[in-house]
Amino acid sequence: MEVKQSKPKKPALVASTIRPPSVEEPMQDWYQTDTHLVIVVYTRQELLQREFVTVEIQPNGVTIQVILDKYSYFVHFKPTFPVKETSVVSVNKGKVEVKLGKVTAGQHWEYHGEGLSSNAVYTHTKSLAPKYRQWIVTKNTFVSHDTRLLRLKAPSGYTMLAPIGYHIHIVHSISGMQIGRSYTVMPPSLVEPNSDKEQEEGRALHLMIKYYSGGTLTPWVTSVSQGESIMVSNYDGNFDIQRLNNLTHLVLFAAGTGFTSMARLIIYALNMPNATLFSVVNILSQESSNSNWKGLRGRINSEHVQDYVPIPSSKCRPLVCICGPWAYNDTVESLTKLRGLKDEHLHIFAQTFPEQTCL
Ligand SMILES: Cc1cc2nc3c(=O)[nH]c(=O)nc-3n(C[C@H](O)[C@H](O)[C@H](O)COP(=O)(O)OP(=O)(O)OC[C@H]3O[C@@H](n4cnc5c(N)ncnc54)[C@H](O)[C@@H]3O)c2cc1C
Repeated sequence: MEVKQSKPKKPALVASTIRPPSVEEPMQDWYQTDTHLVIVVYTRQELLQREFVTVEIQPNGVTIQVILDKYSYFVHFKPTFPVKETSVVSVNKGKVEVKLGKVTAGQHWEYHGEGLSSNAVYTHTKSLAPKYRQWIVTKNTFVSHDTRLLRLKAPSGYTMLAPIGYHIHIVHSISGMQIGRSYTVMPPSLVEPNSDKEQEEGRALHLMIKYYSGGTLTPWVTSVSQGESIMVSNYDGNFDIQRLNNLTHLVLFAAGTGFTSMARLIIYALNMPNATLFSVVNILSQESSNSNWKGLRGRINSEHVQDYVPIPSSKCRPLVCICGPWAYNDTVESLTKLRGLKDEHLHIFAQTFPEQTCL
């Protein structure tokens, strides 16, 4: 395929005045082939992963968001000619390429398009309000008596691949109030985590949701039918997968559906070159005293932490990840700190968006 030289770009219409100090700004460029327009962002962040690039192709413009640690950089433009609604993103040593299909192949473009309001904005990601889009339910199946696996398909033109340990937010109107809850993005299957091509491309996602009979959102969200839509936010979270490098021990504490935060993490860790033996210990808090369960019972306590959490030293570099209700998270955090662990040895998966959200 012939690659044509790009002409000098028309200047972007608007550039943000809000710029993080002392952070080198990404730069954008473009080139074209007969069939594609390729937007390039040079981030200078060699470890950037594909997951930190989202693309939205709408009739009124294309938005590319590149998340660089705590900041987001945007390319926002109206293409000179129409582009197809699917895109292909590749990231290599900090260079991002977003390939957009030309509707009319062979057409030569003088410019990639006109810069729009968010073009070249470079700002704190936390300063951006969550944006909700309608995802369509394509499957809703039982995982256990009270837990469902939902598959959702992204809206046209939108591509979002959630990083490991990140969650989305679902909002729905319940009794006239917008209620929002967080849900972690799951693999389609624990045994075949890469079996959904659309999820791999950021065009679908899976959520595992437990039903609470007295709950506010779950009676509705676990009963949605195929074809119905759900308002889903862009992803959020702060888990840094690079923290798994150079560890000697990874210890995961999950209560109930806190397991969802651990699922992709476990799969990733087990595929690391230095992975060794993996073991699971269940502690049942609600098991009847008459049952024949021989394992641990009750709630998490200092003995459990002592048995499973190693003390950090020059030869021992543990990471402890925790996900459950607030009280559980607090207890495990306190017990591990009493054992000598510091914040650098801990990650707590927690709510980041407000529970009641105005759209
Ligand atoms: C980062 C993060 C990721 C998460 N990921 C997942 C996930 O992948 N899957 C998942 O299923 N959940 C996940 N959750 C939990 C999820 O966000 C919701 O909290 C959960 O689905 C319950 O929502 P609900 O509105 O149905 O229940 P809520 O109305 O919030 O109630 C939850 C339970 O508490 C009880 N309850 C409520 N209020 C009271 C009260 N005042 N006194 C006593 N009991 C009360 C309810 O009866 C119910 O049993 C996650 C949470 C966080 C923070």
